Amino acid sequence: MSKIVCVLYEDPVDGYPKSYARDGLPKLEHYPDGQLLPTPHKIDFKPGDLLGCVSGELGLRKFLENQGHQFVVTSDKDGENSVFDRELAYADVVISQPFWPAYITATRIAKAPKLKLAITAGIGSDHVDLKAAMERGITVAEVTYCNSVSVSEHIVMMILSLIRNYIPSYQWVVEKGWNIADCVARSYDLEGMTVGTVAAGRIGLATLRRLKAFDVKLHYTDRYRLSESVEKELGLTFHPNVESMVPFCDVVTINCPLHPETEHLFNDALIGKMKRGAYLINTARGKICDRDAVVRALESGQLAGYAGDVWFPQPPPKDHPWRTMPHHGMTPHTAGTSLAAQARYAAGVREILECWFEGRPIREEYLIVDKGKLAGTGAHSYTAGNVTEGAEEAAQFKER
Ligand code: NDP
Repeated sequence: MSKIVCVLYEDPVDGYPKSYARDGLPKLEHYPDGQLLPTPHKIDFKPGDLLGCVSGELGLRKFLENQGHQFVVTSDKDGENSVFDRELAYADVVISQPFWPAYITATRIAKAPKLKLAITAGIGSDHVDLKAAMERGITVAEVTYCNSVSVSEHIVMMILSLIRNYIPSYQWVVEKGWNIADCVARSYDLEGMTVGTVAAGRIGLATLRRLKAFDVKLHYTDRYRLSESVEKELGLTFHPNVESMVPFCDVVTINCPLHPETEHLFNDALIGKMKRGAYLINTARGKICDRDAVVRALESGQLAGYAGDVWFPQPPPKDHPWRTMPHHGMTPHTAGTSLAAQARYAAGVREILECWFEGRPIREEYLIVDKGKLAGTGAHSYTAGNVTEGAEEAAQFKER
C-alpha cells in the first residue's frame, strides 16, 4: 500500500461549482503531432468538471482508495509546518502542479525517505530539484502535451490583448466611460509585425501555427532546428540563439522550459537588445525573466507591454511588482489549466499511476528523470540542475 500526497490549488472562493457554463468538452482524437492522448484503463470523473482544485482531487480518490492506497489532497504547501511538509515524511508518491507548485527542494527530498515518484499534473517539472531527484533515484514524470495547445491559445490572446490595448479599453467600459482616444493611443495592428519564439517545441510550434493566419513574419530559435518542410510551410526564419533573434522582433514569446540554461535569460542586457517598444510574452516560467529588469523596461518604454501567467515563486507575494507595473497583462498561471486541459492531465496522471502500480513502463514522452538521470522528454528539453532556489518566498503570500 502506498501513500500518495497530492497538492492542488484552492477551491473557488464561492465553493466547488454545482454547475458549469457549458455541457461537456469537444472530443479530440489525438495531439497535433499524432501523439496519443492519455490512455488510462478508466476514468472516474466527468471531463469538463473542475478537477485541478482540492475538491476536484484530479478524480483520483476512488481509483486509489479501491486499491487500498492512502490519498491525501491539500493546498497547504509552503513553509515547514504546512500539511505538505508534514505528509511528505511518509509519502511514496507526490502529485504536484506547476500552477500551485509544491516546491520539492533538496531539503524536502531529504525529509522524504520513502519518496519514489514525483508526478507533475501538467507540464514543467522545474519546481522539483531535478539534481536532488536524480541523486535519490526518484522518478519524475509529467503529462507531456496535455496543455501545450491550451497555452498556445493563451499566448495568442495575450499578444492581441497587449497590441490592441484590450485590457485598459475593457476597464474604461467597466468604469462607465467612452474614452476612445485613451484606448487607442496605445493600440496597434499585429498584421505585418515580426514575432519570434524562444523555443519551437510543442507550445512554440502550436503558437507559430496559430499566428501564421495573422500575416506576420515568424522567427524562432531552438536548440534543435525544425524540419525544412515545417520551416517552409510556416515561412520561418531560424536564429542560432536568442541574442541574434530578439533585435528583429516586435513580439517575443518565451516557450522553453526553465532549467539552468534559461534561468534569468531575459535580463537587462537581453531586453536591451530588443526593439524599443517590443512586447514580451512569457507563459513558460517566471524565473526565465529577471523580475526587476522587466519592471525597469516597462517603466522606461523599452518594452511596450509584458504579459504572462508565470511568476516566481507561486503564489507571488501580494507586493510582487508584476502586479502593479505599467502595461502588463498578467494572469495567475491559468494558461495550462483550462477545464479541457484539466481533463487531459487528470487522465494522464491516472495513466502514470496505473503504470507505476502495475509495474508497466511509463511512456518515454512523460519521463523527465528516471533511474538517476534525465530521461525521455527530460533528456531532450532539460539540462540537469536545480532552479528551485528562492521558492521559500511563496510562504510569504499570505503575510504580504
Ligand atoms: P516541449 O518540451 O515540447 O518544448 C520545449 C522546447 O524548448 C524544446 O523544443 C526545447 O528544445 C526548447 N529549449 C530548451 N532549452 C532551450 C534553450 N536554452 N533555448 C531555446 N530552446 C530551448 O515543451 P512545451 O512546449 O510543451 O512546454 C514548454 C514549457 O512551457 C514547459 O516546460 C513549461 O515551463 C511551460 N508551460 C507553461 C504552462 C502554463 O500553464 N503557463 C503549461 C505548460 C507548459 P529541444 O527539446 O529541441 O532541446
